[in-house]
Amino acid sequence: METKTMNIKVEKAKTSKIGQVDFNNLAFGNVFTDHMVVCNYKNGSWEVPEIVPYHPITLDPSAKIFHYGQSIFEGMKAYKDGNDDIWLFRPMDNCKRLNISAKRMAIPEIPEDYFMESLKALLKLEKDWIPQTPGSSLYIRPFIFASGNGFHASPADEYMFIIAFAPSGAYFSGKVKVLIEEKYSRSANGGVGFAKAGGNYAGQFYPTQLAVDKGYNQVIWTDDNTHEYIEEAGAMNIFVRINDTLLTAPTSDRILDGITRRSILKIAESEGIPVEERKIAVSELIKAAKDGSLKEMFGAGTAAVISPISTFGFRDVDYDLPETPNSYAALFKKCITDIQYNRAEDNFGWRLKV
Ligand SMILES: *Cc1c(COP(=O)(O)O)cnc(C)c1O
Repeated sequence: METKTMNIKVEKAKTSKIGQVDFNNLAFGNVFTDHMVVCNYKNGSWEVPEIVPYHPITLDPSAKIFHYGQSIFEGMKAYKDGNDDIWLFRPMDNCKRLNISAKRMAIPEIPEDYFMESLKALLKLEKDWIPQTPGSSLYIRPFIFASGNGFHASPADEYMFIIAFAPSGAYFSGKVKVLIEEKYSRSANGGVGFAKAGGNYAGQFYPTQLAVDKGYNQVIWTDDNTHEYIEEAGAMNIFVRINDTLLTAPTSDRILDGITRRSILKIAESEGIPVEERKIAVSELIKAAKDGSLKEMFGAGTAAVISPISTFGFRDVDYDLPETPNSYAALFKKCITDIQYNRAEDNFGWRLKV
């Protein structure tokens, strides 16, 4: 991809909101920093990104995002260590995946240096917003949507790329109770399940609410064709431990290629843990739950890193998972967060200093 030398213009906010923020009581994603990156696509190309005060944006009612849902995003985090150094975790993977999503949704790809350089410039400007209490981080939300106008059902001719930051507290990772879904699908062969497209989330909300109404926290998605194989845990990748083998569904059109998932597979390999990337049948899970070989299940994604599952429900029967000593979930979470917060050697080359 073409590299341009970039002079990112910065328009500073007149006042900072940072004094109004209680950094000891941060929830997830509802407080935003003083500035954001804005980059416009017009006349067939991306303009140079700028940093401007965080502000609401105005769109025409005919903007295509509202009608045809051309909208994609990424989720990543910045971490501060004890020396006030700022770290990112595998940021190029997010940049590349944003462009994979862009291609599928007929959105023009963002030049990689526009993404990386504007992100780093915004992080340097907002460094005081990166919380340092244990487990907290700065959540980063890069996104692109169709800002161009017109009711005609075709790709827009204008887009906006924005990066916004939300300081976030330690993600509550109590164990979750999940329901294996047999009616609704998150994604289908040939569809957009592998893209981080806003519409994938919209389609999940209703079935998830039905599961919540039944007393579950989250849905386990199964394949759209047979509903016999588990694929993802809500908006996280799914892992299962049977005896000492770690299983996860293979990525496909239907499954998002998670960076946490990829990291877990690498760590498992380096720890000598047997791994199988293959289809996992619901019937196999139930058999393993009954004979005691099912040791752990967990979701994996940037927000919670690892989300352990306590119980799965299937056809009105709940199956409880045991408390497993030396759990893989705890091992992977420690390994990943130690690298993220610069507490351990980064043998994989995943960390990037800003
Ligand atoms: C974002 C996401 C994940 C997790 O990806 P990470 O890169 O690990 O954050 C998994 N599944 C879905 C559907 C997602 O949207």
